[in-house]
Amino acid sequence: MVVVMQPQAEEAQIQAVIERLNGYGFDVHRSSGVNQTVLGAIGVQPDFDVRHIKVLEGVADVYRVTEPYKFASRAWKKDNTTIDINGLTVGGDEVVVIAGPCSVESEEQMNEVAALVAAHGATMLRGGAFKPRSSPYSFQGLGEEGLRYLRAAADRYDLRTITEVMEIGQIEVIYPYTDVFQVGARNMQNFNLLKELGKVDKPVFLKRGLSATIDEWLMSAEYIISAGNPNVILCERGIRTFETYTRNTLDLSAVPVVKKKSHLPIFADPSHATGIRDKVLPMARAAVAAGADGLMVEVHPDPPQAKSDGPQSLYFDQFVDMMRQVRLIAEAIGRTVREPQQVSA
Ligand code: PEP
Ligand code: MN
Repeated sequence: MVVVMQPQAEEAQIQAVIERLNGYGFDVHRSSGVNQTVLGAIGVQPDFDVRHIKVLEGVADVYRVTEPYKFASRAWKKDNTTIDINGLTVGGDEVVVIAGPCSVESEEQMNEVAALVAAHGATMLRGGAFKPRSSPYSFQGLGEEGLRYLRAAADRYDLRTITEVMEIGQIEVIYPYTDVFQVGARNMQNFNLLKELGKVDKPVFLKRGLSATIDEWLMSAEYIISAGNPNVILCERGIRTFETYTRNTLDLSAVPVVKKKSHLPIFADPSHATGIRDKVLPMARAAVAAGADGLMVEVHPDPPQAKSDGPQSLYFDQFVDMMRQVRLIAEAIGRTVREPQQVSA
């Protein structure tokens, strides 16, 4: 932590700050120029609230030089984290594609989507069974019945599964059906849920909160890791800004920023970020070009009839196009996207 004193700070004020820092357990290195004094405080506790120092007389500003999180940081672990999901590696050279409808609606819907996305190189099937809808009058999901359809369709086409968990009580119900627990944007700071997921032996896909800073997001990852689960995948899904044309604003600069600050894999979700079907393909291309380790996209056999998020769900032919294009981009930057596969039910 660096404490910059005001140019006119008196010696007594400087001494008072040094004493206070020592009192909090810091070693202090003083550097005084002609006009100004700067204090370097070593030995920062991760939870130290810098405002304790900011409010002292004569202090101009205080800067943290170490991150408030530890296990999620690149400083703690230099190499990228790779996560094995029953033989599928996340965070390696392959850009992993998660695809499927917003909500699980029927057995037939899930089978159709699974067959299509598996044939074109997706390796994980998504579908919400418990839906965090902005309105209580909107479709809330099929619950456990939906989880059964998700699992069965995925198994038929050798796909992994991911589905959202909204509360602690759902962990047990979802566990047998899913390979990855998704924490939605609205729950990114549901700290009790994060702590419980820290005790689970399956990976957690942590979406960025609607108005969360990157540091807040990484602190949420820290909750899961520090509670015992190191397998966290981050997902940039757009944040709230003043722009209203798109549903959210896809902050793609978060990808290289997170890569620098953290060793965790990071995905991008251009579907929830843009909210508009024809904006998904260009942003998927951009996300792969920016270095995302994977994509999450919504695909539906009949988007106009979807029970949720139809306008942002891709038609099958749009998904096929997207896969072809992101494959080319991945290759251009030394990565891969799974080739189309022969699938049979
Ligand atoms: C979803 O993936 O269906 C979803 C609700 O996403 P988010 O939490 O990013 O809004
Ligand atoms: Mn959705």
